[in-house]
Amino acid sequence: MIVKPKIRGFICTTAHPVGCERHIEEQINYVKKNPSIKNGPKKVLVIGASTGYGLASRIVAAFGCRASTMGVYFEQPAENKRTATAGWYNAQAFQKFSKKEGLYFKDFNGDAFSDTIKQQVIDAIRQDWGKVDLIIYSVAAPRRLHPKTGQVSKSTLKPIGPPYTNKSIDFMNDQIISITLQSATPDDVQQTIDVMGGEDWAMWMNALEESGLLADGVMAIAYSYIGPEVTTPVYRNGTIGAAKEHLETTARQLNDHLQKTFKGHAYISVNKALVTQSSSAIPFIPLYFTILMKVMKEKGLHEDCIQQMYRLFAQRIYSGGPVVVDAEGRIRVDDFEMREDVQREVNQLWEKVSNENVFKVADVEGYHKDFLKLFGFGIPGVDYEADVET
Ligand code: NAD
Repeated sequence: MIVKPKIRGFICTTAHPVGCERHIEEQINYVKKNPSIKNGPKKVLVIGASTGYGLASRIVAAFGCRASTMGVYFEQPAENKRTATAGWYNAQAFQKFSKKEGLYFKDFNGDAFSDTIKQQVIDAIRQDWGKVDLIIYSVAAPRRLHPKTGQVSKSTLKPIGPPYTNKSIDFMNDQIISITLQSATPDDVQQTIDVMGGEDWAMWMNALEESGLLADGVMAIAYSYIGPEVTTPVYRNGTIGAAKEHLETTARQLNDHLQKTFKGHAYISVNKALVTQSSSAIPFIPLYFTILMKVMKEKGLHEDCIQQMYRLFAQRIYSGGPVVVDAEGRIRVDDFEMREDVQREVNQLWEKVSNENVFKVADVEGYHKDFLKLFGFGIPGVDYEADVET
């Protein structure tokens, strides 16, 4: 089949198997080019391991620390004329390269929120590893079926408080538009917390502990975002921010418990804004991101998921020194994004950006390139006219 991108709004409904494989190889090569991580973990479970930050974390654990990895994700294989999802091809490629290097891997494609998947992972850890050293929780999901109550919750992206209007960009035609987001109801807030808050992470940790699978010194990490003023009403002060608050409170509770019981730690890592399948869906973030990318590239500070996760492992968690955290106990790898000079310039450009100058003040091409790359398109050396096995 000849596979071309088919974009619908903020999603691409096709993915290119060869392109996805090259993208994984590129990330692996980045990690291998950098010094190996001496004090790294050896048995790593990544929940949300097929795309974005979770995938990059798994690549750093495997190819930077030579760790055995288990990955949980929710992806679709190809069917008839439909390609598989990008995450499915990514996982295949990860397995192929891991095998080539003699690295242990095991994958679980199913709903991380379910008891069934948790049990399958527990059985595998018990059988193959005995204990787990590091658990990374990187799920970004639109909905959750609660395994105990059977309730379905949906996450929304709405401001808590008055409706919020600001500039955004329509990537179908690269036009600057104005968007108004209506206020969240208390039910929207609760449902978003149910999906993206810390309850499922805590359930994973409890289930692993009850099965006796947490190693001494175990580490658990989940990812959060803070971001700039322009996205605060919809992100940090919105429904998703409420969920992140819940996740961060969960981290503090888990940290107390793991410290006492296993001399372990639970951390939140605050990562930078990047183009991923989930972040493309958040209003205002893509315009902010195109401007941020322009400023950070000009300052030589631009990073993708893999650079962020390599820095998290090599310079924050497994540097051999103490883990440096902020006043709220969070690890920060959004330090370059939040630098005063970066934010000042982004704010100035945000005020200025219009249809007349958008290609000058924002890295629109860079955004399109990165977005297509998530689905394996636009990667040098890949023959997109060739018939490929999907
Ligand atoms: P992503 O969409 O690239 O990845 C999400 C992962 O979750 C995928 O592996 C997917 O298969 C998996 N997943 C979704 N639903 C699942 C389910 N029911 N069961 C099992 N797996 C499931 O997202 P991302 O942007 O990498 O986000 C990961 C985390 O990082 C999130 O907590 C997000 O808030 C955080 N984060 C993202 C950014 C950003 O800009 N992208 C910045 C800071 C923090």
